[in-house]
Amino acid sequence: MAHEVTLIPGDGTGPEIVEATRRVLEATGVEFAWDEHPAGEDAFAEEGDPFPERTLESIKRTGVGIKGPTTTPVGAGFRSINVQLRKALDLYSCVRPCKLYEGVRSHFDHVDFVIVRENTEDLYAGIEFERGSKGNAELREFLAAHDAPVREDAGISIKPISEFGSERIVESAFEYAERNGRRKVTAAHKANIMKFSDGLFLDVARKVAERHPEIEFEDRIIDNLCNQLVSRPEEYDVIVLPNLYGDIVSDLGAGMIGGLGLAPGANIGTDAAMFEATHGSAPKYKGLNKINPTALMLSGVLMLRHLDEDDSAERMEAAIASVIKQGDKVTYDLKPSRDDPTAVGTSEFADAVIEEMG
Ligand code: NAD
Repeated sequence: MAHEVTLIPGDGTGPEIVEATRRVLEATGVEFAWDEHPAGEDAFAEEGDPFPERTLESIKRTGVGIKGPTTTPVGAGFRSINVQLRKALDLYSCVRPCKLYEGVRSHFDHVDFVIVRENTEDLYAGIEFERGSKGNAELREFLAAHDAPVREDAGISIKPISEFGSERIVESAFEYAERNGRRKVTAAHKANIMKFSDGLFLDVARKVAERHPEIEFEDRIIDNLCNQLVSRPEEYDVIVLPNLYGDIVSDLGAGMIGGLGLAPGANIGTDAAMFEATHGSAPKYKGLNKINPTALMLSGVLMLRHLDEDDSAERMEAAIASVIKQGDKVTYDLKPSRDDPTAVGTSEFADAVIEEMG
């Protein structure tokens, strides 16, 4: 039976990479019933709503979506679609595989680790008290009464980390490791300094690890982890982190594997999963058939695995890897020079992957 999947083209270069990815996914032979709905700048311009209700309803119904990037206007306009999606569907886990494919230029020889980032808590919970505000004054008064004075000219952001949030993200990291044949989970934290937030995360991680004795477990202080990731990346496998560290280390990982054009991602919750590239809408390349669709295609590979289509996922990933390794039919960002005239377009890269799959 065909898998019903919500398809969101997004805006900027989104529609081009979504179309390229859709074609490759269909070429695997897996059957899809696409339920296409808009989101982003174009939806805002056309219908006055950047995130129409029918788009959210579709994902709630299908439980699986693949999405092109969406522009978030700076200053006035509308709130990030991704933040809205994460909140509406409680997509608490952000999975970002960082794998270096042969043929990609990088400072590293071997990179193959997976970031599992908590998506809902921590300093990104949005609990902020503006300098000079009434709430800020009340909070500082409370803190002063608890022997924790804060300067009057300070803005304050709060970092909540709960047992509930930590348990489900660490559990999902172990489940990912088991499901994908990974051997080790590393929990990253700064529990030596933030004893009651990161300390709680670490305590919970240790308890969850006891339930999964077949997977090795270790923890690393976040600064040490960054140092080791760039000196001995081969020692890392699945890394689970609270929100802020996860955000930063994801970008570090994307840099290590050759850049944004190659970094896939998935936002996963209990009832829904949304697959999308790490990069944004790259608006300056809109309509030019230029940018690299690999990141979204590899997100599509993650989606196939999520749908239990493992054989097709492997074939699709192998075909992408092979086209990249051969190096002739690749986009400008994968060529030795960015103005290399032999670079192919987004759509031709998809053709090459489809041809490679046979
Ligand atoms: P961006 O990731 O869109 O692009 C930055 C630059 O990286 C591009 O100009 C391009 O040179 C390069 N690049 C990005 N993706 C590439 C690809 N697939 N192939 C080749 N080169 C690529 O970042 P930005 O310019 O900071 O953001 C543009 C918009 O996207 C913003 O409005 C931002 O809020 C939004 N955004 C959306 C998402 C999302 O929808 N998931 C994520 C990040 C940013």
